[in-house]
Amino acid sequence: MIVLDGSMGEGGGQVLRTALALSLATGEPFRMHHIRARRPKPGLGRQHLTAVRAAVEVGCAEVGGAELGSQELTFRPRRVRGGSFRWEVGTAGSVSLVLQAVLPALLLASGPSQMEVSGGTHNPQAPPFDFLEKVFFPLLQGMGAQVTGELVAYGFYPAGGGTVRVQVQPVVALRPLVLDQRGEVTRRQAVCLLSRLPRSVGERELAVVRAQLGWPPETCTIGEVKSPGPGNALSLTVEGEGFCEVVSAFGAKGVPAEKVAASACSAMRRFLEARVPVGEHLADQLLVPLGLAGGGRFRTLPLSLHARTVIEVMKAFLPVEVMVWARPDGSEEVEVVAGGVA
Ligand code: ATP
Repeated sequence: MIVLDGSMGEGGGQVLRTALALSLATGEPFRMHHIRARRPKPGLGRQHLTAVRAAVEVGCAEVGGAELGSQELTFRPRRVRGGSFRWEVGTAGSVSLVLQAVLPALLLASGPSQMEVSGGTHNPQAPPFDFLEKVFFPLLQGMGAQVTGELVAYGFYPAGGGTVRVQVQPVVALRPLVLDQRGEVTRRQAVCLLSRLPRSVGERELAVVRAQLGWPPETCTIGEVKSPGPGNALSLTVEGEGFCEVVSAFGAKGVPAEKVAASACSAMRRFLEARVPVGEHLADQLLVPLGLAGGGRFRTLPLSLHARTVIEVMKAFLPVEVMVWARPDGSEEVEVVAGGVA
């Protein structure tokens, strides 16, 4: 059995989700101690527990330690099955992060799957649904699996109450992906989502986008949406030949709209100036699919601690090597090759 220290690297939920994803995909059982040891409230939170329960269902797994606050877990999958699943985080915990734990294995399952996940769809520090739909799912499709999603209801932190549906048509083997070039930007779009907040919040945020990024008014829209609680998410999308990136910022009580927008603009500027096809968050999310494909390569911003942590967990489960080169222009090149020792 693989034994992992949950406090490694980032020491958060990412270590656990990556281990669940890879255990399901490889059939290798694992035991993890010190789960989320580097977080203020260590152990399994609701979102992590929902991810564990989802993984148990998908992998017909035996599990020990699956309780709120638990800092130790054993997980032994039997076989991965596609099917219809419904999971509820129960709080505004991110639906995307629950999907992170099960989606990779379902890409390679013996049959198709439909998942309905309820919780937060637009949360700080998690992929908002727009990112999954425009950036992540199309790349999985490029690897051969059909993955589509729809947003059924919006859920913002802290009230939650959102739902997404995701359909997966699996493949026998994932194709390696190479993302090393970035063409010119051909499309830009700024969308400011608002629930139970005045429209002026959106107008102030989009004014910052126009002023700081020089995006014309026709690229900027406000979406007033229904959700159980107040919420504000600003997402900026750029697309061009061979790439698409969505950066996001989220409104929070006491944070001026201008500050929210400025943080999204600075993330977008950083991406555009680096002239890379893969942004910071996509980098850590692409690693597991590339590992399962047994190869692939991408050029990105300097890897986050999250991404480096995913690489460490991958080495425990997969016979792959992950090489990272710093380039003179400040970007990094990441290559996954088959042949390491798991
Ligand atoms: P915790 O221990 O509290 O659960 P964590 O380490 O599990 O934290 P986060 O640090 O919240 O998780 O990051 C989780 C994931 O969300 C990462 O894969 C990261 O790339 C992704 N992510 C965070 N923000 C964004 C964003 N704005 N767009 C896309 N993906 C994002």
